[in-house]
Amino acid sequence: MHSARQRQYLQALGIDTWVPRRCAAPAAPAAAAALPAPGDTALEWEALRAEVLACTRCPLHRTRTQGVLGVGPARSDWLVIGEAPGAEEDRRGEPFVGPAGQLLDAMLKAIGLDRRSNVYIANVLKSRPPGNRDPRPEEVAACLPYLLRQVRLLQPKIILAVGRIAAQNLLGTEVPLSRLRGRVHRFGEFNTPLVVTYHPAYLLRTPADKRKAWEDLKFARSVYQRLIQDPASHGDRS
Ligand code: SF4
Repeated sequence: MHSARQRQYLQALGIDTWVPRRCAAPAAPAAAAALPAPGDTALEWEALRAEVLACTRCPLHRTRTQGVLGVGPARSDWLVIGEAPGAEEDRRGEPFVGPAGQLLDAMLKAIGLDRRSNVYIANVLKSRPPGNRDPRPEEVAACLPYLLRQVRLLQPKIILAVGRIAAQNLLGTEVPLSRLRGRVHRFGEFNTPLVVTYHPAYLLRTPADKRKAWEDLKFARSVYQRLIQDPASHGDRS
């Protein structure tokens, strides 16, 4: 049986009938928790944050309040990647705050993850596009090296891409989100397993799809558990 608190998270997701057969993913995977960030890694993170704050690689630096690198531990098994900072994120310097951020937190907590302790949250773009318009290809190309450096530092075991824009840009495809869901994709130099789901802002507008998002989260959790139990599986189904 899950706890009252977990039921609350599931309710936020619009899922109030699901009863898990087993408890959620480990709250803090021992290997990741035990792994202190080496000194040079901490310096790398500092350098990366400073570079993003001072970045002028694309025109978005003219209209943003600040660059938003990401939030989470220096090493993390889970990396969540969204599209770009919105107005609130731009103001506060943290990704996924406000109602969409609260829903994302509930989604993550429903599978045993917490943004402060065992999941890192970032966006494809580090600066807010004016009026929340879609990122332009040249902006994504200019900004992607920052994300690749984040992946190198974090060494995540799994990436959760939230929303069509993030998924399509990360996978270099125009295939609709509905056809990218439910499969293990690969991202970056380490071929990190990547699973796709809906953006919480979309789910707030389209609550009927929350159940599908919950299916995606359970799928991502099962991929992660397979990786932990059998790293040679690379998260693929046997
Ligand atoms: S979006 Fe990325 S590349 Fe463009 S200014 Fe911001 S940090 Fe630099």
